[in-house]
Amino acid sequence: MDLEIKKPVPETQPWSEKFWEGTKQGKLLIQVCKDCNSKIFYPRRFCPECWSGNLDWIEASGKATVLTFSTAYDMVEPKFADELPYTIAYVDLKEGIRMMTRIVECKPEDIKFDMEVEVVFHEREGFFLPYFRPVKR
Ligand SMILES: [Zn+2]
Repeated sequence: MDLEIKKPVPETQPWSEKFWEGTKQGKLLIQVCKDCNSKIFYPRRFCPECWSGNLDWIEASGKATVLTFSTAYDMVEPKFADELPYTIAYVDLKEGIRMMTRIVECKPEDIKFDMEVEVVFHEREGFFLPYFRPVKR
């Protein structure tokens, strides 16, 4: 059986293009509102706090801690079966932003709550997806 199963890639919007450009250079960019100083992720046209469109970009440190996570060992969509096991997590960036991501480059059993992680970009069909890996000590 020859099934061509495509994995989903991000859908870009005009206001998220800068974010994806940044990932190609290994940068995790987040928005900051010039009116109320809120930090914003995912990319938006307007500040979710004050509805200002006066937004700018800053480079995040890429440092975060694991808030919570879940590892898939089986029973996923067939297109992801070749990646098993994998771990989906929420991480809290030092900049105060919570991101859903994957924890990579370690065994699932080594992942802990509050573990320090850093961003690493994994390429998929021309997109560089921001994942996180344990900080090496
Ligand atoms: Zn604002």
